[in-house]
Amino acid sequence: MEEVDLLVKEAFHPYLQKTVDIAVKEGRIYKIAEKLDLQAKEVIFAKGKVVFPSFANMHTHVSMSLLRSLGADLPLMDWLQKVIWPLEGEFVSPEFVRAGAKLGILEMIKSGTTLFMDMYFYEEEVGEVAIESGVRAGLGVGILDFPTKVASGPDGYIERAKSLLENFKGNDKVFVVLCPHAPYTCSPETLRKVLDLSEETGAYIHIHVAETKGEVEKIKEEYGKTPVKHLNDLGLLSEKTLCAHMVWVDEEETQILRETSAVVVHCPESNLKLASGIAPIPRYIKEGVKVCLGTDGPASNDNLDMLEETSTMTKLHKGNTLDAKAIDARTALKIATEEGFKAVGIKGGRVEEGFEADFILVDFDKPHLQPMYDPVAQLVYSAKSSDIDTVVCKGKVLMEKREVKTLDEEKILKEAGEWRDKIWKALQRL
Ligand SMILES: [Zn+2]
Repeated sequence: MEEVDLLVKEAFHPYLQKTVDIAVKEGRIYKIAEKLDLQAKEVIFAKGKVVFPSFANMHTHVSMSLLRSLGADLPLMDWLQKVIWPLEGEFVSPEFVRAGAKLGILEMIKSGTTLFMDMYFYEEEVGEVAIESGVRAGLGVGILDFPTKVASGPDGYIERAKSLLENFKGNDKVFVVLCPHAPYTCSPETLRKVLDLSEETGAYIHIHVAETKGEVEKIKEEYGKTPVKHLNDLGLLSEKTLCAHMVWVDEEETQILRETSAVVVHCPESNLKLASGIAPIPRYIKEGVKVCLGTDGPASNDNLDMLEETSTMTKLHKGNTLDAKAIDARTALKIATEEGFKAVGIKGGRVEEGFEADFILVDFDKPHLQPMYDPVAQLVYSAKSSDIDTVVCKGKVLMEKREVKTLDEEKILKEAGEWRDKIWKALQRL
């Protein structure tokens, strides 16, 4: 009898509207049918559970999990300048980044994410933890014009990006992207260098754009144009560019985004918490701009929970536009899953034959999820990420019965507590 790597038995498939078996072979979904008579190296019994694609968190700074909730209730620039940057100046090190990545990736696996895009320092540490934990990651060192302890200027950061590219070359789950921080922290010259390296290596570009009204004013003052126009004139916008936030974008810029196929990464909870504003996502969707979803760093959200982010996104835009159909549950789930994978060229985000085997099993046998009429709407509006029972990434089971198999949860939480004590002391001196 034919043997597959993984066989999921009797999961309810919300789009096929029936109970199915799912066979996984070589990291992909090989077969889906009502009954599959196959040998399997690993079998999961999924009765009472509903299968959905796993989430793609397309913008975060995962190691900031160690700074979670600090500077709460401050606007973006105060939050950065008064709290985050001084603490990062003191604490960011390979050890800090590694401990933060472990905590953040543990949180992401427990909330059903199997792909994340990260921008920070010492990203080789994040890459190693990602490989160890079995998730997919697109990583990049933040490129800035000013010095930090990581580099003395733009060329130093770009050198770091090059060595990172070399480091993870050929890895099947971790890939390197280029992360110029933002148009207000990178000069046109720096951005041109990033573009050259992207063209030379094929690496994606991941950047913060038009996050606050203040940023737009600053760019207009300096370059006489809006941030999107400024980046487009530099040649930076293409289907290889992921632009986080995109809150303050006018109609002309929307057309530029559509024409260049640049991708918007919506981060609604971070934008709300830092009082940055509400991105015009329904307009983007209507005009054919590509949109995916991210949490942003756990210090500005304050978690990495993509299910919560998805739910917030739908309700935010319904309320903001007074249109209950502004973003419906199916569209929201697609933005949080398939659109993210697609943005970085991965055939994932759907539980269909031929797609990458990245999916979750959600336990619907709960008071807040019964009776089950419309599992997609109930996932988005009723479920909590703690209802996610099983997480599979590229055919590998990362969590089963809520137990993460690839990371030591107890040890990671203990280590986070140790960092907390050190950081708390420093905070009293600020
Ligand atoms: Zn960010």
